[in-house]
Amino acid sequence: MEDKKYTLIEWRTEGERLFGRFIEDWKFKCPKCGNIASGQEFKDAGADSNSIYCECIGRYVKGKGCDWAAYGLFDICTVHVDGTPVFEFAEVE
Ligand SMILES: [Zn+2]
Repeated sequence: MEDKKYTLIEWRTEGERLFGRFIEDWKFKCPKCGNIASGQEFKDAGADSNSIYCECIGRYVKGKGCDWAAYGLFDICTVHVDGTPVFEFAEVE
């Protein structure tokens, strides 16, 4: 997996191209466990849908994903937005 660097505008544009305007429809892949979660899943779990790109769904939903957060001590993310590590976009089916 090659590293990707975006500016905030480039990243938002790419997200909208892939998933549309609404963060609920956006999907990201956890760099630790590979789980894919949508903004809607975060919303349903009572979490901030903006957590979608920096936290694994496992922090909110039992039995799913893991407890990884992109802002933790170790950066294993291959995608950075203005230098901030974020989860990579999920592949669109
Ligand atoms: Zn995870």
